[in-house]
Amino acid sequence: MIKRRKKSATALMRRSCRVYLNDLNPGKAALLILFLHRCRDMAQYAVDLFWQCRDFSPTLADLPTVHRVRDRFDTTTRLAQAVCKQAKETLRSGKAKGFRYKPRLRRHSVTLYSHFVRLERYAQAHFDYAATLIGSGAPRGLTLPFRSTRLINRRLKDGWRLDATVRLGRDGKRLWLDVMLVKERPAKVAWKRPRVVGMDSNYKAGFVFSDGQHVGADIYERIQTFGKRQKHTFKEVSDLVGAALRKVDWNRIDVLVLEGLKHVKTGRRGTFSRRFNRRLSHWLYKASEERIAQYCEEYGIAVRYKDPWKTSQCCNACLKWDRRSRREDRFRCVSCGHADHADFNAAKNLRFLETVGVYGLGILKNNG
Ligand SMILES: [Zn+2]
Repeated sequence: MIKRRKKSATALMRRSCRVYLNDLNPGKAALLILFLHRCRDMAQYAVDLFWQCRDFSPTLADLPTVHRVRDRFDTTTRLAQAVCKQAKETLRSGKAKGFRYKPRLRRHSVTLYSHFVRLERYAQAHFDYAATLIGSGAPRGLTLPFRSTRLINRRLKDGWRLDATVRLGRDGKRLWLDVMLVKERPAKVAWKRPRVVGMDSNYKAGFVFSDGQHVGADIYERIQTFGKRQKHTFKEVSDLVGAALRKVDWNRIDVLVLEGLKHVKTGRRGTFSRRFNRRLSHWLYKASEERIAQYCEEYGIAVRYKDPWKTSQCCNACLKWDRRSRREDRFRCVSCGHADHADFNAAKNLRFLETVGVYGLGILKNNG
């Protein structure tokens, strides 16, 4: 059995990995779908109750509300508590987004804590693990075997462990489990001389680091090759980004300097239409943002954001800027003749901003 997480002060990093329960027999699947339906109805009822009394607080649900949900749906206090928690989270995130109407729960999913589920190794047939529902309001004695995924195996090898909590849900007819992996967050280090690395990214060059690392340069080309035959989706871009960022040696970085504004560069024209390139840069940004944040958390890297203004036109050697210095992906300073890859030059400028402790080049300009 997987050990339950100790309640301690050490911060844990959490990652969820989705596995699809494709090989479930139809009887079990029908039971789960029914259960998910019921959980959705309970959570919606709880949302209604909190909405009525305008309770959007981050605290745990109050007991009278929990009991009302329990009695109305003739379930256990534990399950009522779990769905109330979910309802509160829904309302809180809705409020953060500035909602005006009461949220309607469309997705069918429920978080199952260790009271409801037991996660075990399961070496039968071709399966690796099984989540067994053990009652407390969830259907009792239902075993859900599943195969491990490459991502789960990689994380386990990297010192992550499976948490007792899982999330059960479905999209359309497919049932899934989100398995949680946890690991202690690396302790903050006080560096004497931190290795500061700037990173510039765009859809053409991929990810360019000021310490010389360069990954994802093939993403644009790869998408062009399947662009005609296949409908390119965000999923494909996301996979390419994931594979590229895996190649980065994050151990070489203590402080990562990124562009602060969520702007997407579409300056250079490629073979695709401007509209597609814009979408591609947006995808690239979206797919990389969270992954980079995760790597930084896992490797204890501090992240700094800088103003990207003029960083691609400013010369890293003499700090003069001129838009003529930049031609496509080449940079050649019109003042001092310094030549570099354009994105490499931009990455070094981001690094420079961090080492001199300013937010943007504009500040330097104003001070001469
Ligand atoms: Zn120069």
